[in-house]
Formats: sequence, C-alpha cells, structure tokens
Amino acid sequence: MPQQDIRPRIPDVVPAELTPPGPEPVRRSLVSYVLPVYNEEDGIKAFHTELTTALDERPESDYELVYVNDGSGDGSLAILKDLAKNDERVRVVDFARNFGHQIAITAGLDVARGDAVIVMDTDLQDPPRVSLELVDAWREGAEIVHARRRSRQDTAFKRATAHLYYRVLRSSTDVDIPLDTGDFRLLDRRVADELRKYRERSRFVRGIVASMGYRQTEVAFDRDERFAGETKYPLRKMARLAIDGMTSFSTAPLKMITRLGFVVLVLSLLGILYALAMKFFRPDITVSGWTMMMCVVLFLGGTQMLSLGVIGAYIGRIYSEAQGRPLYLVRDVIGGDGDR
Ligand code: UDP
Ligand code: MG
Repeated sequence: MPQQDIRPRIPDVVPAELTPPGPEPVRRSLVSYVLPVYNEEDGIKAFHTELTTALDERPESDYELVYVNDGSGDGSLAILKDLAKNDERVRVVDFARNFGHQIAITAGLDVARGDAVIVMDTDLQDPPRVSLELVDAWREGAEIVHARRRSRQDTAFKRATAHLYYRVLRSSTDVDIPLDTGDFRLLDRRVADELRKYRERSRFVRGIVASMGYRQTEVAFDRDERFAGETKYPLRKMARLAIDGMTSFSTAPLKMITRLGFVVLVLSLLGILYALAMKFFRPDITVSGWTMMMCVVLFLGGTQMLSLGVIGAYIGRIYSEAQGRPLYLVRDVIGGDGDR
C-alpha cells in the first residue's frame, strides 16, 4: 500500500510571495464586479446596460461580472441567465434561498478572480461610472477604495438613522469605520483573499474591511435614487444589520452592564445605610420588617447586576475568541526567501 502523505498541505497557507518567482507573462489586469441581486427584475437589465456601457469606455482591463442571485422570488434569475448567455464576462451564482445581502457579497468574493474586486448594489443607487473612479484610485496604489456618499436620495428617516448610527458606531469601537459608506468599494486581490478568511456568520462586511488596515482611501459620489422597485432593506433588516455591526465590533454594551452594576451596588449600599439609620434613629415611623426587606432587596439587586457584568465580560471574551478572526494580516514579506 503506498504510504500516505501526511505532511500538512502548505500551499493554502503560504502567501503568494513565498512561492518561487517564475517568468511572469505580461497580462492585462482583470477587474471583477460582485453584484448582489434580490428581486430586482425591473431594474437589473438597465443596470447591466449602464455598467457595460461604462466598462466599454475602459478597454484597458478585462472584466468579470459576478451576479449573486440571493433567492429572488421574481424573474431576476431568468434575466441574469439571459445576460450570461449573451455575455461571456457574466457569471451567476444562484442561492438556494435568500441568505441576505452580506452573505451574497461574501459568496461573490469567494467566486471573483479579479486583481481588483468591486462590490456594488444592482439598483443603480451606486452609479456604475463611479466604479471606474475606484479603479483609478486602485491603479494609483490604494488597496481598499471606499465610495463615500456625498449625498443620498433616501427618505429623511433612513438618512437620519444612518447618519446617527455611523456616528454612534464609530464612537463605541476602536475600528475606524469610515462615515457614510455602504458596501460600495473596491478591494485589491490581496485584501479580498484575506477578507475571505473571515467566516463569522453575522457579518458586517464594511466594518470588517475597515478593521483590516492596508492602504485605504475614499472616492466621494452622489447617491442616486433607486431606479426601480423598492428597498430590500426594510426596517427589520436594517435593525439587524445595525445590531450585527455594533456587536461584532464592540463589547461596549456588555461593559455597560458592569458599569451599571457598580452604580446600582453603590446606590443600594446607600439605601441599606438609610434603612438602618431609620430603624435606629426613627423607630417610631419605621414599619416592622421594612428594614430587613430593604436590605435584602437592595443587596441582591446590586450584587446581581455586578455579577451579570462580570459574566458579560467573560462572554465578551468567549465571543471574540469564537469569532476566530485572523490575528493579523500580512501585506508583503520582504527579504530572505520572500524577496523578489
Ligand atoms: N440585496 C440582497 N439580498 C437581500 C437584500 C438586498 O442581495 O436580502 C441586494 C439588493 O438587490 C441590492 C443591494 O443588496 O442590490 C442593496 O439593497 P437595497 O438597495 O434594497 O438597500 P438600500 O440601498 O435601500 O439600503
Ligand atoms: Mg439600494
């Protein structure tokens, strides 16, 4: 029986820089688009036309369009299949059901092969022309290019909540999450590969990307109105995304319990002193049994709140360990074997 090779499989782990350099054929760069689609039958054709028209103006790169059909219940899939038939640059990933926008983006990143990967919405709110500006910034050396909304045409409620949310989120985490950016951005191949190692379930892709470091820059744009259909982010989904964003980058809510616990404990000690003082100095107006009850209730309340905080602190640690995020990301290995 041939002996089994039990050496660890290294290739997945070794960064590309460590493999011996071969004669590299000169080739054009490939730019991939990751395009999540959920019930966009009314607008997807117009989007595709506008995107390909923009791309035709820049023939210096090759392009790949990865549409991810996130379990659409309308005719979106048929339209996408049609696009793929007529354009060999189009690929379609079809989900078995609706997994949500953030997972659709993740699947698209898993499939995309480009030297740069652009993630954008397919409702024409992210103008295809702006994606070319992202490519320009990438060519100038940026590894992550965020498209920042200079203005947006959403309802006043959505604008106000988004504005407030990004500011609260920024102030409660260590991560420098850029203000007013959604998921419209360009990632260099290296960043996209690293991002694929983040496999947490409840994901907030824009926060993860911001936390990665690398050379990040912004391109400002005016966000248009939805071309057709209505938002696929009803309040319920928006709230879930907001909570995912907060809890995946901050244990501040857990720490608040500890702080609250301390405050409650101090207050309850004061309450106990008051109850005892009343018992000794004003026994005439103190109902029998009141002192004991106050002491028990206040003491239990204070210690419980504090204990919850302590437990919360441990849960916070378990949580961040269980996320299993990579501890660090390497851009380049220079010198020794890694020198090129
Ligand atoms: N989307 C998705 N799955 C969902 C919800 C949305 O793939 O469960 C897609 C949708 O087709 C669009 C993008 O994500 O291309 C952004 O959604 P939408 O425009 O509804 O969000 P908004 O711009 O209102 O925040
Ligand atoms: Mg939209």
